[in-house]
Amino acid sequence: MSTGLSGPPIPEHTRFVFVTGGVISALGKGIASASIGLLLKSQGYAVSFLKFDPYLNVDPGTMNPYQHGEVFVTHDGAETDLDMGHYERFGGSVLTSLSNVTSGRIYEAVIERERQGGYLGATVQVVPHVTNEIKARLRRLAAAERADVVIAEIGGTIGDIEGQPFLEAARQFRIDAGERRVCFVHLTLVPFIKTAGEFKTKPTQHSVRELRAIGIQPDVLLCRAETGLPAELKRKIGLHTSVPARAVFAAVDARSVYEVPLNLAREGVDTRILEHLDLPARERRIEEWERLVERLQTPATDVRIGVVGKYVELRDAYKSLGEALTHGGFAHDARVRIRWIEAESLENGDLSPLDGCDGILVPGGFGSRGTEGMAAAAGRARRERVPFFGICYGFQWAIVEFARSRCGLDGASTEEIDPEADHHIFAKVRGLEGVERMGGTMRVGAVPCLLEEGSVAFASYGTTRIEERHRHRYEFMKRYRQLVESRGMVFSGSTEDGFFEVAEIPDHPWFVAVQFHPEFQSNPRRPHPLFRDFIGAALAHRDARKAGAADPVAHQGPASSGHRSRAASPG
Ligand code: GLN
Repeated sequence: MSTGLSGPPIPEHTRFVFVTGGVISALGKGIASASIGLLLKSQGYAVSFLKFDPYLNVDPGTMNPYQHGEVFVTHDGAETDLDMGHYERFGGSVLTSLSNVTSGRIYEAVIERERQGGYLGATVQVVPHVTNEIKARLRRLAAAERADVVIAEIGGTIGDIEGQPFLEAARQFRIDAGERRVCFVHLTLVPFIKTAGEFKTKPTQHSVRELRAIGIQPDVLLCRAETGLPAELKRKIGLHTSVPARAVFAAVDARSVYEVPLNLAREGVDTRILEHLDLPARERRIEEWERLVERLQTPATDVRIGVVGKYVELRDAYKSLGEALTHGGFAHDARVRIRWIEAESLENGDLSPLDGCDGILVPGGFGSRGTEGMAAAAGRARRERVPFFGICYGFQWAIVEFARSRCGLDGASTEEIDPEADHHIFAKVRGLEGVERMGGTMRVGAVPCLLEEGSVAFASYGTTRIEERHRHRYEFMKRYRQLVESRGMVFSGSTEDGFFEVAEIPDHPWFVAVQFHPEFQSNPRRPHPLFRDFIGAALAHRDARKAGAADPVAHQGPASSGHRSRAASPG
C-alpha cells in the first residue's frame, strides 16, 4: 500500500522542538516559540520556524481580521499567521511560505494527490496520509533551510479536534528522528487563586495527561504564571507529569513581550532544551536585546500617534504595525503612545479624536466601512501639516482625498468600493481584472521599487532601490499622475513595471504614503526607516506645537523648515 511518503529525508544534523499549548488559548505560545528561537540563535545555532495552524482555510488570507488578527505577508508572498511576525522580529529571520502550514493546505495537497492517482488505489486516511504530509512539511523546511533546530509550533490547544493529526504526526516524528533529536515543550497555565492564596497545578496536570493520552510525554513545561514559581511547586508539577522538576519553568507575566526571552533565559529554558537535544550550550549573546529592553523601560520622552483604522478594537489586526511604531520610537528613545481611532467615528465630520496627535497614520484595510473617515484623517493631516503616514489602503485614501480636495475631482474614489465612481483613482491591479475568486488572488510579496533621489522616502532609506512586501488588489491609475503632481503631491517611488508605490507632499513637514506594507520588515534591532522618520517628524511636530503654545507668534507658520530637516534625517 502506498502511504504517500514524499519529500526529502530528515537532515541528519537537524533537531526539532515542538511547542504545544494547554489549558486555555492566548497564553503566548507564539511569543514563547519566538523567544526560544531567539535564545538558541543567540548561542549560534541556525534556527528556523514552522507554524502549524489546524484550521481548514488554505491560508488566513480570506479570514476576517476579527477571527484571525493580522495576516502576515512573507517576502516570497505567502499570506500567513501573525505568529510568523513574532518569529521574524525575535529571530531576526526572513521566513518563507514553507514556514506556515494549515490543515487546509495539507488536505488540499492530499486530495490533489489522490485525484492524480498518487496513492495507487489506497484508501486515503488521516493516518498515515495526512500525518505523512504533515511530516513531509517538517522535513522539507529542515532541508530547505539547513537549520540546526526547527521550532514547530502547533496552533490551538490540546484537546481541539482539529489539532489531533498534527499531534499524531509530531508523536510519530519523534520515532522517525530519534528520541534525543526531538524536544516537546508544553505551555500551560498555573493560576494563582487569590481566595485560596495558592497556585493551582491541577489544570497543568490535566493538560499533560491529555498530551500523554496521545502518546506525547513533554520534555519541558513552561508554566504561565503571574509570578515565579517556588521550587516546591515545580517539584509537585514534575511529580504529577513525569517531567523532571528542573525542566519545569515559570513563564511569568511580562510587561512587554520583549522581556519574555530574557525571562526564559533567566530560568534556563534554552539550556535545558539543548541538553535534551544533546547539543552543547554555548555563550548567549543577548546583550543587544537586553539593551533594547532597557531602552523600552526607560524612554526619554513620548509621542502620541493616532492610528485611524477599521479594526481598531482588535489590536491583533494591526500587530506588526503596532510593533513597527514601537520600533520607530526606539530610534528616538521615545515611547509611542498609540491612540486607536475607529475610522467610522470620523465620518460625521467631527475630527476631534485627532486632536493632540503628533502624527496620524492610516493603515491597510479592505471594503467600504470607515473609508470616508480615513480620507478625512488624511485631509486634516495635510491641511494642518501634521506628520502623516499612509500605508496601503491609507495610501489609496490619502490620494483619493487629495484628488477630491486639490484636483477638483469630486467624484474620485476607488473601484473597490464604488464601481460607478466618475474617477477611479484606483482600479483592479493589471492581470487581476475579472478575477472574482477571493483566496490567493492579490498582488502579494516583495517587489523592488525605485525611489527618486531627493525625495523624503529616499532620505529615509538612503538608497534608490528598496524591496517591500505587498498585499493589495487595486493600483493607482497612471492617467491621474500629471494632474495630482501639478497640485503638489508627487510620486517618488515606482516599480519597473510601472506601479506607483510612494506618494509624498514636498511642501509638508512629513507626508508619505506607500502602497506596500513596510511594517512587515521592521525589526526592534533595526527600526524601519519610514517608521523611524515618521516618529522623528511627529516629535518635531510635538515640540513645535508646545513651543507655539508657549509663544503664539512662533506658531504662525505651522511648519518651519527646521522640522523638515529634522524629519529627513532624524538623530
Ligand atoms: N483594499 C486595498 C486593496 O486591496 C488595500 C489593501 C490593504 O490595505 N492591504 O488594494
